[in-house]
Amino acid sequence: MSKIRVAKCPNCGEIQAFYAHYKTRMCSRCGKKFNVANSVQYGIFDNAYIASELVKKLKMKEKYG
Ligand SMILES: [Zn+2]
Repeated sequence: MSKIRVAKCPNCGEIQAFYAHYKTRMCSRCGKKFNVANSVQYGIFDNAYIASELVKKLKMKEKYG
């Protein structure tokens, strides 16, 4: 099973989950490609469920502090 990375788009700031082996990623919000190595990263997780829960938490934190 592929591991899932959580990282932030450097263009628009959207936090998102995607396969850990991706070196570049097309942002799900702004549609721009970014280099994963240059983005802010929050970790690599064993499955998409754990990763999406973290994305939710991080977004809440950004929104409400
Ligand atoms: Zn973006």
